[in-house]
Amino acid sequence: MTHVVTENCAGCRFTDCVSVCPVNCFHGDGERLYIDPVLCIDCGACIPKCPVKAIVEDIDILGSPMIELNEEKSAILPVITAKQEPLPGAEARRDALLAEGAA
Ligand code: SF4
Ligand code: SF4
Repeated sequence: MTHVVTENCAGCRFTDCVSVCPVNCFHGDGERLYIDPVLCIDCGACIPKCPVKAIVEDIDILGSPMIELNEEKSAILPVITAKQEPLPGAEARRDALLAEGAA
C-alpha cells in the first residue's frame, strides 16, 4: 500500500504536504507532485495538509493510472522537502475544485 497524489494537485503545488512527510517521499516537476510508493510509510500525515484533497490511499483508487504515474515520476524527479510558493493561479484552481465538489 501507498499514498498517491491525484490530478487535483496539477497547477496547485501548495506543497503544504511535503513539510509533514517523515520520509521525504514527495517528488515534483513544474506542475505537480508525486509520492514514491517505495518510501511512503502510509502514515497519512499529508492528507489533511492538502487543500484540494489531492492525496488518497491507493486502495481507494485501484486501477487508476495515477498509481503507476506516481511510481514512474517519483523515480525520475527530484525530491521536494521544503514548502514552495504556490504556482500562479493555484488559489483560483483550488476555489474551482471546491466549488465543483472535487476537493
Ligand atoms: S498540498 Fe496537495 S495540491 Fe499541494 S502539492 Fe501537496 S498534494 Fe499537491
Ligand atoms: S502518507 Fe506519510 S509517508 Fe506517505 S507521503 Fe504522506 S506523509 Fe509521506
